Amino acid sequence: MHGVAVSGGVAIAHAHLVSHATLEVANYALPKQYLPDEIARFDAAVAATRDGLYALRSTIPKNAPSEFCAFIDLHLMILNDATLSEAPKALINEQRCNAEWALHQQMQSLLEQFDQMENIYLRERKGDVIQVVERVLKALMGHPGYIPAPTDRQEASILVAHDLSPADVIQFKQHQFAAFITDGGGATSHTAILARSLNIPSIAALHVARQLIHENDLLIVDGSLGAVIVNPDDQALSEYRLRQHQWEIERKKLKRLKTTRSTTLDGTQIELQANIELPQDVEQVIENGATGIGLFRSEFMFLNRDDLPGEDEQFTAYRKVAEEMHGMPVTIRTLDLGADKQLNGSDYHSANPAMGLRAIRLCLAEPVMFHTQLRAILRASSFGKVRILIPMLSNVSELKQTLHFIDQAKRSLEADNVSFDRDIPVGGMIEIPAAALALDLFAKKLDFMSIGTNDLIQYTLAVDRADDALAHLYDPLHPAVLKLIALTIKCANKAKVPIAVCGEMAGDVSLTRLLIGLGLREFSMQSTQLLSVKQQVLKSSVPEVTKLAQKVVRAHDADKARAALMRLNQL
Ligand code: PEP
Ligand code: MG
Repeated sequence: MHGVAVSGGVAIAHAHLVSHATLEVANYALPKQYLPDEIARFDAAVAATRDGLYALRSTIPKNAPSEFCAFIDLHLMILNDATLSEAPKALINEQRCNAEWALHQQMQSLLEQFDQMENIYLRERKGDVIQVVERVLKALMGHPGYIPAPTDRQEASILVAHDLSPADVIQFKQHQFAAFITDGGGATSHTAILARSLNIPSIAALHVARQLIHENDLLIVDGSLGAVIVNPDDQALSEYRLRQHQWEIERKKLKRLKTTRSTTLDGTQIELQANIELPQDVEQVIENGATGIGLFRSEFMFLNRDDLPGEDEQFTAYRKVAEEMHGMPVTIRTLDLGADKQLNGSDYHSANPAMGLRAIRLCLAEPVMFHTQLRAILRASSFGKVRILIPMLSNVSELKQTLHFIDQAKRSLEADNVSFDRDIPVGGMIEIPAAALALDLFAKKLDFMSIGTNDLIQYTLAVDRADDALAHLYDPLHPAVLKLIALTIKCANKAKVPIAVCGEMAGDVSLTRLLIGLGLREFSMQSTQLLSVKQQVLKSSVPEVTKLAQKVVRAHDADKARAALMRLNQL
């Protein structure tokens, strides 16, 4: 099976299938003696859900529109139907599986039946079935039953999922998996970015992995090629064991570069910083010898919870990162929520979420939330070299409003006699073509800039970065993308405003020389990629790569660009 290579390396292990009905649903086998308890747990969850729905109905005011009650009654009817409240119990017994998985399977078969219905009203009730199932799943998850102990599996397994949200993947950071493969997503979806930070082989956009792979199948995952081999023969196994060994030797060799200065053959210094999602990622940053944090995706602290982190909680997290980085720059990006990173319970729905109320747009629309974050970041600036980075700027007026918000936050801290860095640098993400094309207007008001190539590619090519059906069109080497990146770096250098790349292109070793050749001197990437990029920097000469980089940018199509890039990388 072939997909999009997300994170390199080789894994050989057994498959563990997970599914997603907006909630993560685990699938595991149960010893026979646990089956009655599991059925009782299922009954209890259905009863709790029923009680919850009755309680909800009792809170509806008498004068509320009648649809409110009708809606809850419909959900109660779905819940009480034997297809949902009884059939899963038979599945638990038959398959000796956990209640969540039985319910999930039953839901899938019901949804298939709904799909075939001619009556539009009934077909549209699919959403209600999913909502009811989610309620029961939540109740089940609040009361976990038998969970296979880690010793039930001799080795780390390979996670096989249809598609996962970034919020799901962040939870996997605590688990040990040998590899991570999904049917959905693209190479720069946030799910893929997180998979990369786990430092395990990973592949996205496999389309049919969930369908074709069975629980416990033996898999080889070649994350560098984007290939999965299911139930391999002995020859494939021994070939891949060898490759796995070679890969490990390579990684060990790279570790030696940790303290080596990142300079090209002609002595040009190339700054290599790291991207993080959570404060605990700093450990990996230090381990890989990064000289700063070029992108802290602060919104990840806001996922998987029902409340917003308050000022003190955020301050504590930012301060921890600032202190642990010992004076090296820590670039905290203000909340980039929206699109695929939604708050729990968010009721904002846009037909085009990636182009909707997201990132700085959302922050400007939610002044209290924004003010809280800005105060927390400013307070942390007394404990290290903190910088503020604004995501998704498309308009100078947004930048002006943001600077005004930052001033307001500073004044409120002054009034409270709280110390902070008055000269805290403020930078902007260049990730919308409008900002790249009007760069000089933004450059005048910013202390530094960072190109978010993940979104820049998505918006330039009008290709959703997370949609596996379009993965083949999402191409960093499209001539329009290369021209925009080249233009942005050139304009920023001319305006003498420091510019970095913090999108996934920064961590792609095959693009290191190209970006240096275009005048880039600052990179920020997942820590796990940093030493390979450093190795490439050490082997490159600025005058040599500059000439050939122009050829890549001037290529008339992506294939010609790829050929020119190959020549550049063979220098
Ligand atoms: C980008 O868009 O390139 C970027 C770095 O930000 P994110 O991936 O979080 O959107
Ligand atoms: Mg972005």
